[in-house]
This record gives sequence, C-alpha cells and structure tokens, in this order.
Amino acid sequence: MNRRKFIQNTVLTGTGIVAGTVALGCEGGKEGSNDAFAKTQPLIKPSPISISTWNTSSANNASGKLLEQGNSALDAIISGVAVEEANEENTTVGIGATPDREGNVTLDACVMSPDGDYGAVLAVENIVHVAALARKVMEETPHVIMASKGAEEFAYSQGFKKEKLLTPASEKAWKEWLKTSDYKPEINIENHDTIGMLAIDDKGDIAGVCTTSGLGYKMKGRVGDSPIIGSGLFVDNEVGAAVATGMGEEVLKTVGSFLVVELMRNGMNPQEACEEAIHRIIKKGDRYKNFQVAYIAINKAGETGSYAIHDGFTMMKHQDGKPEVIVSDYYNKI
Ligand code: ASP
Repeated sequence: MNRRKFIQNTVLTGTGIVAGTVALGCEGGKEGSNDAFAKTQPLIKPSPISISTWNTSSANNASGKLLEQGNSALDAIISGVAVEEANEENTTVGIGATPDREGNVTLDACVMSPDGDYGAVLAVENIVHVAALARKVMEETPHVIMASKGAEEFAYSQGFKKEKLLTPASEKAWKEWLKTSDYKPEINIENHDTIGMLAIDDKGDIAGVCTTSGLGYKMKGRVGDSPIIGSGLFVDNEVGAAVATGMGEEVLKTVGSFLVVELMRNGMNPQEACEEAIHRIIKKGDRYKNFQVAYIAINKAGETGSYAIHDGFTMMKHQDGKPEVIVSDYYNKI
C-alpha cells in the first residue's frame, strides 16, 4: 500500500479520533526519514472546516456551508471566493479591484487540490472569476501556469464572460491617486486584501485557493506571491495547508506557505509554524516595519493558526455551522 493510500484509509476508517499515533512515515515498509509530524500527529478527523484571510466572512461562510452539505473542499473554496470576486465593493479581488498605475485591473489566482495538483493564472484582465479559471488551467490543460492574454483567451474558450473590471468607483480612486502617483503600499489599508481560503471536507481532504488583484497601483506586469505555488499557497494533503497575504515580494523571498507546511510536517502546530515563517521575514532586517505579511494555516487534524507582522489582521473560520472571526496575534508589539 502506498503511503498516501495508507493515510487515507487510516483517516477514513476512523469514526473521529483515531486512537494513538500511527507510523505515517512508512513507504513500502521502510520508515520515512524526517516526518516528525507523522510520528507525533494524532489522527483526528475534523468536521468540515473553512478558514480565510481578512474580513471575508461572506466568502468563508459560503464555503463553510457548502462543506457542511457534503461538497468537496475544492468545490467549496472556489465557490466561496467567487462571492467576493463578484463583490464590486471589495477593491482587492475580482470586479472593482484596484488597478495598476496605468489603470489596468490585472488579477492573479491559484488553486491546489488534495491530490497535489496546482493551477494558476497571472496578470489576467477582463475575467472576474480567476480562481475558477486557475482551476480550469489545473484540470483542462497540460500546464500549471497561464499568464496574461493567453490565460484570457483560454478563459473565453472555457465559457468565461468578458467583463470590465474597472468600475466607476475604482476608476475615480485611481484618477485621484494619479494626482500624486505616490506608491506606498500601506499596512492593512484596505483591511481585506488577497483572499486566501483553506478547507477540509467531510472526507478529510484539504484544498486551498488564493485570489487577488495584488498591490494597488503596482507597476504594469507586476505579479506577487499569490499565484505562485509554495509562496502564496501550499497544500499537502498529508500534512496541512497555508496561505499568505500582504507584501508579496517578501513572501516570495521566503517561500512562505511551503515553509509553513514543512514546519508542520516537522512537528510544529499551525500557530507555531505561522509564527516561525513571519520570524524568517523579521530576521532579514528592519524593513518589516513598513509592510504587513500574514499567514493562516490548517493541519490535517483541523487545528488552525494565524500570525502577522503587524496588528490588524483577522482570520475567518467556519465549522459546525458556526462562523468565527479570529483576531490574529502579531509580532510588532512596540
Ligand atoms: N500578497 C498580495 C500580493 O503581493 C497582496 C495582498 O495580499 O495584499 O500580490
């Protein structure tokens, strides 16, 4: 029996808590090398759960409810984030998002499935539901990343509608910004940035998604961490998942989400892992004082964690019919 099957069967045959610990590090009878996680993690099959970044309760509750109805983690999160992608008042994802400095709204998104597949779209214009488009790249093409015009043309071939993403409100704000053209991403200024969402379904499978317009008034062509596997998002169905928000350049340089998942694999709980990933950024020098980065994470047992550099970050959680707003702990307490 291969390792993934063994874990799946172990989880699925349990009625809730599977007693004790199990030797998940076995492959063909040999013990795996570095799986501290595998040796210590009690296998608890959690009830379905959805978590997401920032104040995205409408999206997260939509996902949570779909999970409770028995939908897969992948279906739930794509439908969940679609709620905010279609919300014109949310200026950081989908329609109504803040454009680049030339007035183009360009969106980035990625998705990871429980079987380790990944799909992403970068710098896409005129398409609202880019998370669903990233899923199409994952499922309908031989590739994992599609960018710009090619991604847009692929979207039309899959039946996506062409829509104007710059709304009168986002155009007005951009024209106001042009008066100074002062590019200073401000900490938490929107109070809801990239939507990253992670979920576990009733089979115990984990999926994750990330959708964003990136940094407001970015240079034309700039892409951040959000659609990049291991940086903005990482899912390992044996261990857990993590997603990032904030200054993407800094998340990219530390491959943050992969780091969080690997730290969990090596024995940390999600909270400890998020804190360590933030500390990796802090250790690089004082620049962290001027930008925000935050991570949220979940492990196979359904434990969650979140941590940010600065105050003001929140995580949404939906489980057992109960939506919760979790105010995140943070590093910079001075
Ligand atoms: N991480 C996103 C980016 O850098 C932006 C954000 O989450 O605020 O594109």
